[in-house]
Amino acid sequence: MSDRKNKLAGKIAVVTGASKGIGAAIAKHLAAEGAAVVVNYASSREGADRVVTEIAAQGGNAVAAQANVAKQKDIERLFAETHKAFGALDILVNNAGIYEGAPIGEITEENFHRHFDLNVLGLILATQEAIKHFGPAGGSIVNISSVVSTLSPAGMAVYNATKSAVDGLTRTFAKELGARKIRVNSVNPGPVETEGIHSAGILDKIQAYAAVTPLGRIGQPDDIAPAVVFLASPDSGWITGESLYLTGGLR
Ligand code: NDP
Repeated sequence: MSDRKNKLAGKIAVVTGASKGIGAAIAKHLAAEGAAVVVNYASSREGADRVVTEIAAQGGNAVAAQANVAKQKDIERLFAETHKAFGALDILVNNAGIYEGAPIGEITEENFHRHFDLNVLGLILATQEAIKHFGPAGGSIVNISSVVSTLSPAGMAVYNATKSAVDGLTRTFAKELGARKIRVNSVNPGPVETEGIHSAGILDKIQAYAAVTPLGRIGQPDDIAPAVVFLASPDSGWITGESLYLTGGLR
């Protein structure tokens, strides 16, 4: 592709939850920089195939891989398949996540476990499995957290708790994995218009943030992906354990 800079040439990346939304944009941007990308999805085979086709049409390299990132066996299979297809891993983007609002009176065990099983346990298990596949040169893990961990909006306590946990895990894993040259950072987006926001029927609620955002609009997936490329690339080689807020100034 004409504007390809190949900052990630020869690198292998896994992006969880890349069949749509922010994950799909991240997969496309990583591929545009030359990385071979595994486009993970849970159920949207069609969406993942579309992302792979778009990447191939731009001259990039990607494959779709189904795995429920809340399940350890699926995660093991995802990284085994990645290794088989491409070899050692360089980049993991822990993007798969869910968000369902529930004020305190409506929080249920089921709602709690659904969030924590994917947003927190899934991220831990994916990280644990991925590091078995990083080579001696190390690599980069980018966790997709959220501005909710500092904005703390009413009605989002459980989701907020998962993303606050992601920020903590990011800092601790950075310390544990530094000796292996594996950097761990997060990006914390503000409200971003995605398929997930549309299907949850909360676009109006999200759009309302534009009025209190210094840059005057909510985000799009393409506002987020370049920062992930930066954190995945050698340009950020001295950065680990950080959270980068991408919020149009909303934070
Ligand atoms: P979308 O709902 O648009 O997309 C979610 C993606 O995650 C899909 O590819 C979906 O795959 C995948 N996914 C869902 N469950 C699983 C699972 N169990 N295993 C593997 N993949 C799964 O979400 P967004 O793009 O809006 O959000 C992506 C991330 O960004 C999340 O972590 C979210 O918390 C975070 N975020 C989002 C913001 C926003 O305003 N949109 C703001 C801040 C952070 P499939 O379609 O196959 O189910």
